[in-house]
Amino acid sequence: MLQAREHCDFSCNEKMCVTLDKAGVPRDNKWRSLVMYMRGLSYHDYLSHQQKGQLQSLLTKLFIEKQFTDDKFAEVMNQNEKIFSAPYIKKINLTLNESQKLLQEFQSTLRYRRGDIKDLESSTANALAMGQDPDKVIASLRVAFRDIIKTMDQDAARLDQLCRTDSLTSLYNRRAFDEFMGVAIEKSIQRSQPVSLIFMDIDKFKIFNDTYGHQVGDQALVAVAKILKHCVHDYGANIPAEIYSARFGGEEFAIIIPGLEEEKASFLAEIIRKSVENYNFLIRNEKGDIVQKGIKITISLGVATLQDEQCPSSGAKSLLNHADLALYHAKDRGRNTVVRFKDIQS
Ligand code: GH3
Ligand code: MG
Ligand code: MG
Repeated sequence: MLQAREHCDFSCNEKMCVTLDKAGVPRDNKWRSLVMYMRGLSYHDYLSHQQKGQLQSLLTKLFIEKQFTDDKFAEVMNQNEKIFSAPYIKKINLTLNESQKLLQEFQSTLRYRRGDIKDLESSTANALAMGQDPDKVIASLRVAFRDIIKTMDQDAARLDQLCRTDSLTSLYNRRAFDEFMGVAIEKSIQRSQPVSLIFMDIDKFKIFNDTYGHQVGDQALVAVAKILKHCVHDYGANIPAEIYSARFGGEEFAIIIPGLEEEKASFLAEIIRKSVENYNFLIRNEKGDIVQKGIKITISLGVATLQDEQCPSSGAKSLLNHADLALYHAKDRGRNTVVRFKDIQS
């Protein structure tokens, strides 16, 4: 039997009001709105499964502690905001970092080319001052300009490559990943072939950083990326399509495998998982001397495959979502494991 909603002016249905009463949430608009808002967030597609899990734990903790004070309210709001903004901050920092490096590269390229043109200017002036035949000077100027244009084309290609590469691991970056993903899905629709996606995330990497420091954390990212490249290279030799490996962001990597079904993609995922698990990571100081060895790193992986898809944009969205959910389940199952999206359905 539902209790009468006395002294509660928060607008929700009576059943929800009783549920909130049972959970100990005060009959106060501020708390009730916050709880309902956080509960509603779990239905939104724009939050990752990890974020939804974090919000769920925050709510569960709140219901267990039952401390509905103003300080607690500010703390929950603060944590809620952090969960929300974490992926954006991560992405912005990564992009900022990359942009800075690109800008430096671009400026130094520009300085070189300006130098080339200045050299050309002074050598032309000298040639004319020394009374060289103007027709010959113009002919050699033409050759010199053609060389400069060729070099500038090479510069453009190099800068384009840099724009697509993650500077720490040398894998493709997120921008390139998004492009490849679009192309791979369009091709899979045209050719009626599957396309698989592996998402992988280093386990407990925050603790790793806290234990060994951020710089060593960077070395670990490089080591994991090398293992990934190695496994993909060996595996790729046996399949016709090109495999794209990218740093998706932070300690997350993604692999797109056009033409490969889930079974085979999860086989590759398992090879990568084992290779990382078996690797003995070592720490070197600035001089390159080994200061610690035998450190273990593990990763969790989620695998999903798109088959018989018709629409490129919804296809990309569901493939990402399925691989992310599979990865989330791999974390939930205790980490250091591969989960296929197919396994978690039903
Ligand atoms: P989980 O097993 O659930 O994935 O736990 P986790 O600790 O790996 O996950 P969490 O998202 O809590 O933390 C990710 C950590 O990855 C925190 C952040 O400092 C670290 N990280 C992200 N990018 C970099 C990077 O470029 N270099 C280093 N050293 N650390 C990074
Ligand atoms: Mg992560
Ligand atoms: Mg992690």
